[in-house]
Amino acid sequence: MTLAIHNSLSRRKDPFEPLVPGKVGLYVCGPTVYDSIHVGNARTFSVFDLVVRWLRATGFEVTYVRNITDVDDKIMERARERGIGIDELTEATTANFRADCARLGLLAPDAEPRATRYIGPMLDLVAHLESKGLAYRGANGDVFFAVRDFPGYGKLSRRNLDDLRAGERVAVDTAKRDPLDFVLWKAAKPGELSWPSSYGAGRPGWHLECSAMAGRELGATIDLHGGGWDLQFPHHENEIAQSEGASGKPFVRVWMHAAFLNMGDEKMSKSLGNFFTARDVLDHLDPVQGGEQLRFFLLRGHYRSEVAFSREHLDEAGTTLRGFYTALREVPPVAVGIDWSDPHAARFRAAMDDDFDMPVALAALHELRGEVNRGRSPQLSGLLKALGGTIGFLQQDPEAFLKGGVSAGGANSGQPDVESLVAERTAAKKSRDFARADAIRKELEAAGIVLEDKPGGLTEWRKK
Ligand SMILES: [Zn+2]
Repeated sequence: MTLAIHNSLSRRKDPFEPLVPGKVGLYVCGPTVYDSIHVGNARTFSVFDLVVRWLRATGFEVTYVRNITDVDDKIMERARERGIGIDELTEATTANFRADCARLGLLAPDAEPRATRYIGPMLDLVAHLESKGLAYRGANGDVFFAVRDFPGYGKLSRRNLDDLRAGERVAVDTAKRDPLDFVLWKAAKPGELSWPSSYGAGRPGWHLECSAMAGRELGATIDLHGGGWDLQFPHHENEIAQSEGASGKPFVRVWMHAAFLNMGDEKMSKSLGNFFTARDVLDHLDPVQGGEQLRFFLLRGHYRSEVAFSREHLDEAGTTLRGFYTALREVPPVAVGIDWSDPHAARFRAAMDDDFDMPVALAALHELRGEVNRGRSPQLSGLLKALGGTIGFLQQDPEAFLKGGVSAGGANSGQPDVESLVAERTAAKKSRDFARADAIRKELEAAGIVLEDKPGGLTEWRKK
């Protein structure tokens, strides 16, 4: 069995062969830390979390790098608006980002380079490009990349330079030789955050940051580079121009791009104003189930297909997930190692190895769940849990997960005292006071608690 990944560069699904057999370097463009991430970004980061988990589950040694962009026009603007220092803003936003990732259950990257700590490597890269005739100083003091002198420009996004120029609607910028040239080093205006350099005080361009950090952390050629679909042009195209322009080597073997999460008809984007942060969404979900539920919703479709965001779809994902956990509660799993020749495991693996085809992989898990429910085999239940674990799902305690974040009661909790109401109902049923038993069931139902009567007079409860 070999893993095939769709490469945005070749526009094909190709067998995945890292530069060094068995070892994978993955670079993912991380957040610009001026505000909380929106739920569309959460999809992108969840997709690459899935990729890392699956690669590791199938024996690859992965170095996962996801950067933090902590210098940017938006950051400076937001800090000014809020009247706080740039460091204060970026520290707090980075901490919030990490907290959001933890709530979603995402793995921490192996390295999380921050742009402001890599100014030296960025300036080295600019000097290298200048020495090769690919960078020049504009009349306004900015340093630009000379797009027309890099022959491969446009190969990722399949754009033709003349078409791009014809489509350019920007005012003619006399500082540039070509309207498509982009900034490598931006000269500082008075009072702006800046670093000294031989080009004068300034700060790096966004594209430059990723080329420098990826090169420093993972070498001149990296196996996998990921990001959201919208980053292909110009960001990733420009990363290629800078990195390959400097090194003369292929920058990335496989480019992966995660499709959009759509909010109604419009693309998820802060600039469109339909802005739901990941934490907005998580705050509206059950505190115990919500993180896994949101991640399950974000990943159950194929990563290259757009997904429509709605409360209804989110609830559906929750129902499916609770179905899996219910099977694990009913048939307690034994710990098993995965035998990939088992037909369920083989089907699951074939789907995941086929460009991370989650809909097909999940269909295999649904089938397995059906068999667990019918045959009540602790081994198969164990396999269900283990296969879910390869992609980061189904690892919570089923009982605790299904109960959710509803307090089990107590005088001061403001919640119904579920355990004692259940006990009271059991007693009422025993003494044939069915009216009282029914009233308790209704009271709990109104509070979002569903009761399930089991053989032997046992009653279990879970959050609706
Ligand atoms: Zn990037």
